[in-house]
Amino acid sequence: MSAVPARKAALPPDADLERLSTWAKHRNGLCESCMATCCTMPVEVRTSDLVRLGVLDAFDADGAMKPWLKRLQKSGVVERHSPATGLFTLARQAGGECVFLDRETRRCTVYE
Ligand code: SF4
Repeated sequence: MSAVPARKAALPPDADLERLSTWAKHRNGLCESCMATCCTMPVEVRTSDLVRLGVLDAFDADGAMKPWLKRLQKSGVVERHSPATGLFTLARQAGGECVFLDRETRRCTVYE
């Protein structure tokens, strides 16, 4: 994790995270200026996503969840698991950003 203070995300002043109709539509170049606003929302992933992210071995994923879930929570990758939906919520940094966001560049450290 970077010790650099997070820059403020450029949320449109009238955007309400709970109301999709207030969100900005994606357009070419938007990611150059939005300061990773979408990466400050809770990120829910499936087991297969954890494997794709490289934080969970496929072999372990086929085994009992409890040991690897505990490891991922302890290492600060996963915040919680919902047995009802089967989804995992990725851990968030102090500013609410996804654990995989570089706070200095405001770019994902996983995807291009
Ligand atoms: S994995 Fe990357 S693109 Fe996805 S929310 Fe986290 S920082 Fe953003």
